[in-house]
Amino acid sequence: MSSNTEILAVAKRRLYGNYKPAQFVIARGQGCELYDLDDERWLDLCAGVAVCSVGHAHPSLVRVIAEQAATLMHTSNYFYNEPNILLADELCRRTKMDRAFFCNSGTEANEAILKLARHHFYGIGQPERVRIIAFDNAFHGRTMGALSLTGTPKYREGFVVPGGVTHVPYGDLPAVQKAMGPDVAAIIVEPLQGEGGVFPAPEGFLRGLRAICDASGALLLADEVQTGVGRLGRFLGIEASGVKPDAVALAKGLGGGFPIGAMLCTEALAGALPPGTHGSTFGGNPLASAAALAVLKILDDEKLMDGARTKGEHLGKLLGELVRDLPQVCEGHRGEGLLRGLVLKPGFVARDVLPKVQEAGVLLTAAGDRVLRFSPPLVVTLAELEEGVREVRAVLTELASGLTASVPAAVGAR
Ligand SMILES: *Cc1c(COP(=O)(O)O)cnc(C)c1O
Repeated sequence: MSSNTEILAVAKRRLYGNYKPAQFVIARGQGCELYDLDDERWLDLCAGVAVCSVGHAHPSLVRVIAEQAATLMHTSNYFYNEPNILLADELCRRTKMDRAFFCNSGTEANEAILKLARHHFYGIGQPERVRIIAFDNAFHGRTMGALSLTGTPKYREGFVVPGGVTHVPYGDLPAVQKAMGPDVAAIIVEPLQGEGGVFPAPEGFLRGLRAICDASGALLLADEVQTGVGRLGRFLGIEASGVKPDAVALAKGLGGGFPIGAMLCTEALAGALPPGTHGSTFGGNPLASAAALAVLKILDDEKLMDGARTKGEHLGKLLGELVRDLPQVCEGHRGEGLLRGLVLKPGFVARDVLPKVQEAGVLLTAAGDRVLRFSPPLVVTLAELEEGVREVRAVLTELASGLTASVPAAVGAR
């Protein structure tokens, strides 16, 4: 095996430059620990952006993937496969939805949900009903369709993104009401905005959206790509509001690291995308489906949804202490379950602080401009959360002690 430095030289020459990864190469993982090519240990409190829900190399997930790979990996959608049918049934049962379509990522799940909404109205003879209401700061993905829903202008700039989407401020029901019209097909919402900066929905917001949709006949679409599959301490984030959406997008944590996305919907929408209108070569393949089934079983067996709630509360308490003790650097904290953000004071840039945290051996991600996001594997222990926050505290204490507000973006070896 190569060392970090050798292989990084190849990466710089050969990988497309659309990312700015940390300057080490992850080689293996176990639970919440990762090791790089030089055998340096990193505490993973980001889980590959809320993906590795059951931690790295979970023995049951590894076994199921290996066994399924040795049995059947791919069939195409010309043929049924059993793991996929069982997964559809499990997901519908857990979400109270009726139908499942499978794809390979969150972006694709939202692409499907967008096509579902527009084609539903086309199919019932209301082709003028095409406009979608989405929210400022929302993140729904990077393909052209999903990008049209994404509410951060800098992600859309320069791409000639398809139109028909109105963005309004998150949490602002009067603004939604004002944006509504007979041409609106759907409202798409994250129950908690993840990428945008870990903003939970204000009290009553999701119920208000449901009421607006019911009054106008528009659909309510929940993007649960980041919040779903137990991360907030329940299977879907939206459950806490008592609201039932018309369709749901899932991905990220669903496969525990194996790529899979899903669009779930009610029976009323079952005919919106008849044969020929949508599809995916890899979507619903037996390997990804078996992985997701294994993840769901682990969630149950290890009570990880309850754990996300209780451990998340503990993390919230630790972050609260940080905010209390370091008011020069921290503005506050927010989030739910095991999706939490530490909000830095104006003038600090989360992306510039991350490398310092990495130097201390802890992996986090940024959300929005000023938020350090914690989205650890749901199997994280209290001791690991405490270790992570202790290291973050040390980094922020150093920042507070009169150092400059932003640090160089480059990460060196520790
Ligand atoms: C990450 C994310 C997406 C995009 O998912 P990909 O798997 O990267 O395509 C969409 N919506 C939300 C809410 C997300 O957090």
